[in-house]
Amino acid sequence: MTSTQIAIVGAGAAGLAAARELQQLGQDFLLLEASHRIGGRAYTEQLAADVPFDLGAHWLMAPSVNPLLPYARNAGLTLDAADEHFTVAQYFEECDWLPTDAYQEFSEYWDRQFDALAKAKNELSDTSVFDVIDNDSRWASYFHMFFAQDFTRDVDQASVMDAMNYVREENDLAVASGLGDLLLRYGANVPVSLNSAVRKIDSSGSDLGLETSKGPIRAERIILTVSTGVLATRQIKFAPALPDWKLDAIDSLPMGSCTRVALMFDAPILRELPDEFTIDTAGDGPIHFRNRPFADDYVEVAVGGRMAEWMEKSGEKATIDFILEKLRSISGQKAISEPSHSIVSAWDGDAWIKGAYSCARPGAADQRSVLARSIDDRIYFAGEATSSNYFASVHGACISGTEAARAATQSITRKEA
Ligand SMILES: Cc1cc2nc3c(=O)[nH]c(=O)nc-3n(C[C@H](O)[C@H](O)[C@H](O)COP(=O)(O)OP(=O)(O)OC[C@H]3O[C@@H](n4cnc5c(N)ncnc54)[C@H](O)[C@@H]3O)c2cc1C
Repeated sequence: MTSTQIAIVGAGAAGLAAARELQQLGQDFLLLEASHRIGGRAYTEQLAADVPFDLGAHWLMAPSVNPLLPYARNAGLTLDAADEHFTVAQYFEECDWLPTDAYQEFSEYWDRQFDALAKAKNELSDTSVFDVIDNDSRWASYFHMFFAQDFTRDVDQASVMDAMNYVREENDLAVASGLGDLLLRYGANVPVSLNSAVRKIDSSGSDLGLETSKGPIRAERIILTVSTGVLATRQIKFAPALPDWKLDAIDSLPMGSCTRVALMFDAPILRELPDEFTIDTAGDGPIHFRNRPFADDYVEVAVGGRMAEWMEKSGEKATIDFILEKLRSISGQKAISEPSHSIVSAWDGDAWIKGAYSCARPGAADQRSVLARSIDDRIYFAGEATSSNYFASVHGACISGTEAARAATQSITRKEA
């Protein structure tokens, strides 16, 4: 039987950061990844030759704490600041563009809602976001759409405290070659066992046992980085079973949905459209477009919440047709042909992920720290969902992985002393 001091389960951002930390500390470890690749929810595909597209994580956020940012800079990767291209978002409703001062009006409404959410947080009222915001405003549907895009669940499904605990910074950066590509580089020197799904964790003995698709492994400590989507399906068995407090935390932090779509066109039609625009036609609610990122002829759409769930269930063709219909409503039926290249993400159906990222149920914001708590200083939990302030992000996942690696190492040192 293979033995190791620390077994890391999952080679996404958290697992890779944990492994890199253990390498630094000179600690023996095994990194086990169920799928055929590293990176998890950071994954880049080619939309067309030399046009990378991130199916999952795209923005490098929180520059003051993001451990991937110095890494990307040192690697000489081209980074693109979102704000540099941004002029003013424009809105198209039913048959026409709204005047440009609509942007100002929406921004003011947006700020007022966040003031109301901050007040609710200060009053320790962990209700749903829907319960706090002004849903009668003509801008409410836009707020609902952008919130779901950011938090992957709709306003009625999301906790106010959780949303307000999230620490935001300005200056998000996109990596020209893709954030998935960055994670591949970040993990390039980390030994990993791919196609190694962990099926069972047995903590009944003095050592921990892992049953994997490549055979049994014995470890002193485990760092578990799989998503709450995977944990919630109970596809990894535990003996003895996980305690109720841990199961409650898992179920309180469900995965939401986020579909990312790219449509590329041969004709230069997109060049006539604004950099950022939102279309609200046919009673479907607003859909937001980023136009020609990195000056390539494609539009990017990111949809969250129930609409994203609907897109994934409806399939790629229905999703593309839906988005084309929106684009055609503003540019005339003939102007937009079929796309020459397209990509539609599908995270809910990914067997090893099961959704986009975690979003606390109303009343459950405190469950992130419970999820992060170890079981008897032997099984450590890491991954985006365990971060109280940086969940839903690659940097949050990395930070949690590094912390878990340190805690597991210290616990081995304590035992040996
Ligand atoms: C559409 C979308 C857009 C996003 N946008 C951004 C963004 O712009 N910026 C940002 O910072 N973040 C973004 N995120 C969030 C970010 O991708 C995640 O928070 C982060 O990548 C999660 O990393 P992780 O290591 O916690 O989990 P994961 O990436 O899920 O890694 C867990 C790994 O465990 C593996 N695994 C699962 N089960 C088993 C098993 N039984 N045995 C062994 N291995 C297993 C999985 O295959 C996976 O590789 C986005 C995510 C999505 C889906």
